Amino acid sequence: MTGKIKVLLVEDNYMNKVLVREILTINKYEVIEARNGIEALGVLARDRPDLILMDMHLPEMDGITATRIIKSNEAYRDIPVLAITAAVSKSDEEELLGKGFDGFISKPVEFKDLLESISTALRGKKPGA
Ligand code: MN
Repeated sequence: MTGKIKVLLVEDNYMNKVLVREILTINKYEVIEARNGIEALGVLARDRPDLILMDMHLPEMDGITATRIIKSNEAYRDIPVLAITAAVSKSDEEELLGKGFDGFISKPVEFKDLLESISTALRGKKPGA
């Protein structure tokens, strides 16, 4: 037990992945990664993240499909899933919430927005706490 909060980052874009990983690592989160929805489900079968950051457009299986599968499984349903998505309208936001996402982070990803969204989704639970 490290006491760290474990975040599963599902992202196929190299630069986005590096950016998010750096922000989270600097802030004492543990980051595990998957490149698409199928890999994400594979990770869930053997590991238990506290939260999932899910890109929408992914090869093999997209973020919406993967999230639908995650949220339909009782074993994974409680894990918050935040969509990483290009700037969205109010109706896009509502549509995402209807698809099971617990929130969203706008691209380009901003340091403060990312950390606040994660903290909100975890109800204030902090790394190392
Ligand atoms: Mn992508």
